[in-house]
Amino acid sequence: MAVYQSEKEFLRALKRFNALSSQQYEWHTGISEKEHQCLFGHVIPSEQLYFKKPLDMEGERKVRVCRDCMEKLVFATIDSDRHSRQISDTLYRERYPAQKKTLKVLPR
Ligand SMILES: [Zn+2]
Repeated sequence: MAVYQSEKEFLRALKRFNALSSQQYEWHTGISEKEHQCLFGHVIPSEQLYFKKPLDMEGERKVRVCRDCMEKLVFATIDSDRHSRQISDTLYRERYPAQKKTLKVLPR
């Protein structure tokens, strides 16, 4: 069951989800060369999109989650109620402030 209406909407939500963690421990997308195990027990087949996050500074230990689980995890954490959605949005905007439009200086 897809939780988000589109891939675009999901990836936008993932950015807000990532704003909850420090940048070093953000979730990244990956395409597996070999089979992996999803944190929630599923098999992630090779050549398939999945999500990974480092568990230590060296990035030697990672946690991996399949696409479906990631979508549910993101939704349950930040989009299942208005308050969590607002908090994630605020954190995201703090991390990536909108670029102020620079005034063009007209040539003399
Ligand atoms: Zn899974």
